[in-house]
Amino acid sequence: MSADTSLMPIPGPIDPVPVPRAASPRADGKVELIGLSRDAIRAELEAAGFEPKQARLRSKQIWHWIYNRGVSDFAAMTDIAKAQSPRLAERFAITRPIVVEAQVSTDGTRKWLLRTHDGHDFEMVFIPDADRGTLCVSSQVGCTLNCRFCHTGTMKLVRNLDAAEIVGQVMLARDALGEWPSSPDGRMLTNIVMMGMGEPLYNFENVRDALKIVMDGDGLGLSKRRITLSTSGVVPMMARAGEEIGVNLAVSLHAVTKEVRDEIVPINKKYGIDQLLAACAAYPGANNARRITFEYVMLKDKNDSDADARELVRLIRHYKLPAKVNLIPFNPWPGAPYECSSDERIRAFSTIVFQGGISAPVRTPRGRDIDAACGQLKTTAEKRSRADLDREAAAQLA
Ligand code: SAH
Ligand code: SF4
Repeated sequence: MSADTSLMPIPGPIDPVPVPRAASPRADGKVELIGLSRDAIRAELEAAGFEPKQARLRSKQIWHWIYNRGVSDFAAMTDIAKAQSPRLAERFAITRPIVVEAQVSTDGTRKWLLRTHDGHDFEMVFIPDADRGTLCVSSQVGCTLNCRFCHTGTMKLVRNLDAAEIVGQVMLARDALGEWPSSPDGRMLTNIVMMGMGEPLYNFENVRDALKIVMDGDGLGLSKRRITLSTSGVVPMMARAGEEIGVNLAVSLHAVTKEVRDEIVPINKKYGIDQLLAACAAYPGANNARRITFEYVMLKDKNDSDADARELVRLIRHYKLPAKVNLIPFNPWPGAPYECSSDERIRAFSTIVFQGGISAPVRTPRGRDIDAACGQLKTTAEKRSRADLDREAAAQLA
């Protein structure tokens, strides 16, 4: 038996299910304050023996220092009595994910390899444009859903990121971009997409709690209109996502027939195209001003025919969806079972959808030279070849 069997079982393409794997507690036993609501911070302070009135005041002050000033050292919180900071530091922590590696692409895209306190690696990407800067945030380490064209889906080890690790990514980006104190003017980081590693709707509570802090006017202060959550189609969670989070929705559709979608996005076997589009039609807050984005990865001879494009238009019209389509050229990775459609094919597909009255821009891949493009996220540690791993195992035995 290989050592891999000690890892979590992979649900596989037949019947994907969420596999909740919570973060392990911190080795130092401290309580992480990032990711907690103001009330939760107050309750923690009370549990630590602060008087209720003190706890209320201190929680407000701490919140302000954390989210408006980016401070992670209690001693730097100048309105908190010096004598109290060791007491706070002993019991509480304010931490960012660990930066293992930071890379910058020739096109300005930045990618970070990050590590959780218990040693799991995940990635985050920042994409600067002329009028905006988008941070692509991860929700899980790896992903259990095994979409066939996605490199992240081939990762073995998966755990949910907790709210602190999700908010922590945004804070870390602000650190790197020098954007504290947080002011709404002139920021580079203007938009967030939950399109990094993982399926956000399989980690609903943590993603919700994290985004609440990101959207809080006194928190990180990003408008919900500038945040997009992308799902491969976890239908039962979509209504809750609309009600409890309320951000823009992107759906990884990628195919218009059961046969093809079953193959490339296996969660389709559980929640089919019709169910998915009905859930989109019912998504709270979707209207012509806030359209649902359908992501469609262009795979040569798989999902890219004229007939596919026409069927896409028919489906969107049939469900009366306020929609736009993002055509994503497939980003290859070593061993990927597909190729990207030709530029001509992508253009023809885009034209048909556009003539059907639906906007269908082609997304330019960014950060390809540093493997930061869509679906290429997979940690370096995981990229070691089988031969490397065998050599390492042999060396350990020797
Ligand atoms: N799990 C979520 C969000 C992360 S993936 C989801 O699937 O929606 C973000 C987007 O990148 C998805 O639309 C995904 O299908 C797409 N993607 C994955 N692998 C890709 C690849 N190799 N080339 C292009 N796009 C890819
Ligand atoms: Fe997971 Fe999304 Fe990749 Fe599918 S495309 S394997 S859902 S990260």
